[in-house]
Amino acid sequence: MSTFPIRVFGDPVLKQRAREISDIDGALVRLVSSMIDTMYDAPGTGLAAPQIGVQKRLFVYDVGEGPVTVINPELIEQSGEWTYDEGCLSIPGLSFDIVRSKVNTVKALNLEGEEVVIEGDELLGRVLLHELDHLDGVLLFDRLEADDRKRAMRMLREQQLTGTTARTSHSL
Ligand code: ZN
Repeated sequence: MSTFPIRVFGDPVLKQRAREISDIDGALVRLVSSMIDTMYDAPGTGLAAPQIGVQKRLFVYDVGEGPVTVINPELIEQSGEWTYDEGCLSIPGLSFDIVRSKVNTVKALNLEGEEVVIEGDELLGRVLLHELDHLDGVLLFDRLEADDRKRAMRMLREQQLTGTTARTSHSL
């Protein structure tokens, strides 16, 4: 098993837009394999390439049916509304009730280079939106209201001072 260290809030790589992938080659397959190891090791439900410092439009997730690889995703449909206590591996120990669309559909490539359409309801829908955000340099904090964001920053600073972090299993 090979894992990567997970980049945390404050790392500039998390604020940049990742680039489209043009070649699905052996190096990419190895990268995906290590990303999946990293996700399970964390543990998390999803992991985007920028979270390990790689600026590629790629993420992996497992909502209980095995690992799935998503390359160059595009959001093609979204509907409804759903509140979820959302956490992020790059913001360890914190989670926030965030409202986003409930059913979300993404068009992407799989690891074989075939076009796939993934429709996600509730948790899977949330994973898709959260990881898409990572590819665009958007973090959970950017989805919070100003007051909540201030409170979250304070909690994060306290946590960094005391060195306590607890990851939750719904970290994306
Ligand atoms: Zn995240």
